[in-house]
Amino acid sequence: MTYYRTHNLGELRASNIGETVTLSGWVDTKRDLGGLTFIDLRDREGKTQIVFHTDIAEDSVVERAQKLKNESVIKVIGVVKERQSKNANIPTGDIEVFVTELEVLNNCDVLPFQVTGDENLSENVRLKYRYLDLRRPQMTRNLKMRHKMIMSIRNYMDERGFLDVDTPILTKSTPEGARDFLVPSRTNPGDFYALPQSPQLFKQLLMISGVERYFQIAKCFRDEDLRADRQPEFTQLDIEMSFVEQKDIMNEIEGLAKRVFKNVTGESADYEFPRMPYAEAMERFGSDKPDTRFGVELKDLMDIMATCGFKGFKSAVENGGIVKAIVAPGVAEQFSRKILTEYEDYAKTYFGAKGMAWIKLTEEGVNSPIAKFFTEEEMDAIIARTEAKVGDVIMIVADRAKVVYGALGAVRLKLGKELELINNDEFKFLWIVDFPMFEYDEEEQRYKAQHHPFTSIKDEDMQLFLDGEMDTVRTNSYDLVLNGSEIGGGSIRIFNPEIQSKVFEKLGLSKEEAKEKFGFFVDAFKYGAPPHGGLAFGIDRWLMVMLKEQSIRDVIPFPKTNKGQCLMTEAPSKVDDKQLEELYLDSTYNSEIV
Ligand code: ASP
Repeated sequence: MTYYRTHNLGELRASNIGETVTLSGWVDTKRDLGGLTFIDLRDREGKTQIVFHTDIAEDSVVERAQKLKNESVIKVIGVVKERQSKNANIPTGDIEVFVTELEVLNNCDVLPFQVTGDENLSENVRLKYRYLDLRRPQMTRNLKMRHKMIMSIRNYMDERGFLDVDTPILTKSTPEGARDFLVPSRTNPGDFYALPQSPQLFKQLLMISGVERYFQIAKCFRDEDLRADRQPEFTQLDIEMSFVEQKDIMNEIEGLAKRVFKNVTGESADYEFPRMPYAEAMERFGSDKPDTRFGVELKDLMDIMATCGFKGFKSAVENGGIVKAIVAPGVAEQFSRKILTEYEDYAKTYFGAKGMAWIKLTEEGVNSPIAKFFTEEEMDAIIARTEAKVGDVIMIVADRAKVVYGALGAVRLKLGKELELINNDEFKFLWIVDFPMFEYDEEEQRYKAQHHPFTSIKDEDMQLFLDGEMDTVRTNSYDLVLNGSEIGGGSIRIFNPEIQSKVFEKLGLSKEEAKEKFGFFVDAFKYGAPPHGGLAFGIDRWLMVMLKEQSIRDVIPFPKTNKGQCLMTEAPSKVDDKQLEELYLDSTYNSEIV
């Protein structure tokens, strides 16, 4: 109880009837009926209806109430009464407060948007006035849920013996492989810090320090082109453990994920999370983060196409490619050529897929532009393999594996959404394991670490690695997927310095480069490194999925736009020449050239 309030605005119930209370908050909505004014007063905890009536309050109080603008901040004293027309939608709906005293604590200017109601607000306006946007109940809920999530993480980690250790923000480039944000050093002219892409190096060094169980809720920075669910600055739950194997980490983390899930959604996930190898996920779903809430799995047509009369498919197989199909259920009537072309165009946006063929199974028989290239037996074999029924549409892509998986994986998801095959009330956790160690970067024409270069190789694939079989080497790694979003991932690390050097070598890093980039790190492994591993969760994305929000920006208190701007503070922004001079920097930016 303070001068300003005896109760918050979500608190009063029928049991409070007759009490005199003091309330403070924002004017959410106001209705004037002559000598009677109703206001919904709002604070973080909810809304309470307050009533100004000339029978109870002095005329001057009622008059001042009539003049109140939405979002002004007021304090009132009044008596709790039973409400005539009860509102079952809010917890305080059984009562209302008849005001006797009103103090206007602050008036609100003309608002850039109505805080209450209008759901179709422009996101740019919301971001510019984020402090107002955060007053909206949906956003207040998201802030509360974020807090709840972080508290349940902290409690769990503490119970399980993890130490919360913080690591520097001004540091050196880390190995995640994205572009760094750089900070020039005034005291070391010409040198730069990098903002951490993750605390990866520090957490592994902490294992060498003997911390054994580490966690941190860490800010991470990656200067990448932003996609819908990415931000340049994001929050990660970072974890590392010593003297454990992959299964120990996964079990520990499963416990954490269940706890957090229960605390945030109120539902329980009382099942052992399924574990699926990366290769199987790609083959069945065309994705390393499959949404397994619906079927429409990829079917293999390689053997049928290898000998068929359709050149396009046959040559794809001859050139080392693959042929896969998915079945769009029950849409043969509904999917016109135009719609199918739209799907094909969509498929083509994935890694340059050249096309997507389709076969409709109708009551009248097969309908497809490519039907003429197949014998009856071949067509029967395609139908049998895909298990398509009359009324279905078979969609086929033939190309390099990466292209086929990318295209059909994306089309599968589009079908899932558009045909409403996904049960949005369902949550499905899934582990993906055994990721490849390397991935070929076509632009740079070299192999890169798929996760990072400190990921350990599976014992059974070590010989392949030593023989240089880059495409087939698998790692002791795991990602946790929830409803088709990767919410976390990590690995058991290499702790043998010789293997580490070999990995650098295979990644094309010369001894000098490796020393310059990671020398201090590799050195540390000479002084007794315990076996260790860990992972990191993207807090923002995980929360977004649990709250079923469409945008990652809705679960981040102060997010940036797709161009990496903060519309509220107007960062990034120009700085004085003097500041640049002190940093030995020259602003060479010239908008004419750019
Ligand atoms: N540092 C890794 C990442 O941010 C996670 C890990 O391996 O622990 O992706």
